[in-house]
Parts: sequence; structure tokens; C-alpha cells
Amino acid sequence: MNILVTGGAGYIGSHTVVELLEIGHNAIIMDNLINSSAKVIDRIEAITGKRPTFYKCDMLDKAAMNALFDKESIECVIHFAGLKAVGESVREPYKYYYNNLSGSLDLIDVMNAHNVKNLIFSSSATVYGIPKTVPITENFPKGECTNPYGWTKSMLEQIFTDVQKADPKWNVVLLRYFNPIGAHQSGLIGETPNGIPNNLMPYITQVAIGKLKELGIFGNDYNTHDGTGVRDYIHVVDLAKAHVKALKKITDNSGLSVYNLGTGIGYSVLDVVKSFEKANGIKIPYSIRPRRAGDIDSYYASADKAYKELGWKAELGIEDMCKDSWNFQKKNPNGYDDK
Ligand code: NAD
Ligand code: UDP
Repeated sequence: MNILVTGGAGYIGSHTVVELLEIGHNAIIMDNLINSSAKVIDRIEAITGKRPTFYKCDMLDKAAMNALFDKESIECVIHFAGLKAVGESVREPYKYYYNNLSGSLDLIDVMNAHNVKNLIFSSSATVYGIPKTVPITENFPKGECTNPYGWTKSMLEQIFTDVQKADPKWNVVLLRYFNPIGAHQSGLIGETPNGIPNNLMPYITQVAIGKLKELGIFGNDYNTHDGTGVRDYIHVVDLAKAHVKALKKITDNSGLSVYNLGTGIGYSVLDVVKSFEKANGIKIPYSIRPRRAGDIDSYYASADKAYKELGWKAELGIEDMCKDSWNFQKKNPNGYDDK
């Protein structure tokens, strides 16, 4: 299948392109490189032996998107492009709503104009807000998001749902990611956060490499087995493979589908620290800090629906996630250097 991957130079997009190419699909990347590097294209080629077609194109530039769709025979779009920094979205909400919503609305318009009506969308578990219980299943109600980034995901889910409802020729798959970490086993592609990382794993790897002194653990008085926050970490390669499996819903003409992508297992912050130390033989100094605003005790998926309907489940465990995160950090101490 000819698949357009928006945001395909980014962290999850690049891993998905690798999986698509390896299974024989044709992946075309569209990315404005606002949060990624063109070097990723070389790295994808080094891993797969195939060079994906790359368009440096902003989804806010509708004319450029139209030209791309005129040129390529796109059959399906996997839509990763978007801004994703939670804190920045609180400080600059307009930027987030404009980029993520306007860009996606233009994408829908361009897709419609070219009769391309198959879409897989990167959503997030954040759309559930604060769940009453865990594990979280897909039929839990959507909740109050705690930041504009989260709202863009929630609103885009609604927009894609309504577009599909109005025109049943559309096939839309909404994928709600839990906490992606890890990197490709080759160590050639991975996550390269800007500045001081907000997320747990990149913070840990930067402590391990000596860029940061110690990890601050945000609270040890949560209602969890050791008092630290519990999350559902998922290896980015497993996540990427789920997108390939989700193509089944496109070829089956399934209309609208929604899946959680997680492992179904919750690990605490201390579990992750201990797993990282064990997997890599590196001590991670830490201290307990106050709780971070907006954090909750425990957040993990039921991943049963994706298994039942897509035949997908996460294969890689926390040790692989820790090993591969460290392998990428070690081999790329300054990310892709130009980002
Ligand atoms: P990323 O920042 O690495 O990738 C996003 C890509 O989109 C980047 O390469 C960026 O340059 C590109 N982009 C942004 N705005 C664009 C625009 N206007 N035009 C063209 N390209 C644009 O992020 P990621 O972690 O790979 O996330 C991919 C998607 O998954 C995002 O939509 C993100 O919100 C979503 N998601 C990520 C996580 C996570 O923890 N990483 C969790 C849930 C959902
Ligand atoms: N966390 C932490 N120190 C950090 C970053 C994160 O203790 O420097 C904790 C955070 O409080 C949460 C877990 O690690 O319990 C995962 O946080 P992350 O930001 O990676 O993901 P999210 O909050 O989006 O689930």
C-alpha cells in the first residue's frame, strides 16, 4: 500500500516507517522538521535498505499538501504530525490549537479532494482524563484533559469521528497511545527531546549519560505498590507494529475503530529506575520531590481489544525498553546533532 506518514521523521513516525518498509509497504514521509531531523531519512535507509520518499512540507501549507497528493497515489494516511509538548501547550495554547487542529483540518480537506479516505490517527490515553478505575478500556468515557495538547487530541478524535459518520466511505482508526519509550534495536533512531526532558525515560537516560545530575521522582505518597506513580510503558517498536496491524481495519472497510495501545502492565517510577539499573548496569541517583501538578496515581491500559481485533499485542518487556533507550542515548549523546 502507498502510505503517507505525516510527522514520519519524528520519534514514533520514524519507527513506524521502518516497520512499513520492512513489510513491503511504500512509505512517503511528510514532515516540516519542526521537531525532527532530516538525518532520520538516512537512518531509516540504513536500517531497512530502502529510502522512503521525503517531502519537507508543513501541513499548514495546504497548496504544498495538494501538490504532494497530486504527485503521489496515496491510499492511506498515518497522521503523526503535531506538536506534543504538554508544558509548552499550556504556555502557548494558540500555537497548539492552530498547528494541530488547522493542520489536520486542511489534511482532511486535501484527502477528500483526492478521494483518499483512509486515516490512522495518533491519539493519546490523555483523552480519558482521570479514569475512575484501571485498567482503562476503550469504552471508558472521554474526560477532562488537563492541558491544551490533550484537548487537541480529544478534539481531533471528535472531528475525525464526525467526518467518518458523515461520509461512511471514510475508514478512521484512532490509536490511543499510553507511554511510548525505547528505541529501534539498531540504536539508529530514537527519541531526541529538546532541552531538559519532561518525560521519565529520556530524563533517566540523560542522568545515565551524565548530562543531568539526578532524577527527581515526583512524589512517593501515591496510592500504588511503592508510592510512586504507575504508568503503562510501551516499546516504540511494538507501538509502530500496531500501526501496521491497524491497516487491516482500512482494508476491511471497517468505518470507525478505536484502540488502546499499551502493554496492560503498570510500572511505577521506582520499578522503571530499578529495571534500567538492572538492564544496563548503571546506577541512577534520584531524590524524592513534591508531586507534579496534574499527575495521578495509576494509569494503564486494557490492551485486549487490539489483541482480539487486530491480533496485536506488545512483545517487548520493560528490560528491552530500558536497554534500547540507553543504547540510543549512548550512540547519539546529542541526538541527531542538528536538532
Ligand atoms: P515527534 O515530535 O517526534 O513527531 C511529530 C512530528 O511531526 C515531528 O517530526 C514534527 O517535525 C512534525 N510536525 C509537527 N508539526 C508539523 C506540521 N505543521 N507539519 C508537518 N510536520 C509537523 O512526536 P512523537 O512522539 O513521534 O509523536 C507522534 C504523534 O503521536 C504526535 O501526534 C503525538 O502527539 C502523538 N503521541 C505521542 C506520545 C508520546 O509520548 N510520544 C503519546 C501519545 C500520542
Ligand atoms: N516522573 C518523575 N520524574 C520525572 C519525570 C516523570 O517522577 O522527571 C514520573 C511522573 O510523575 C509519572 C511518570 O514518571 O508518574 C511518567 O511521567 P511522564 O511525564 O513520562 O509521562 P506521563 O505523565 O505523560 O504519563
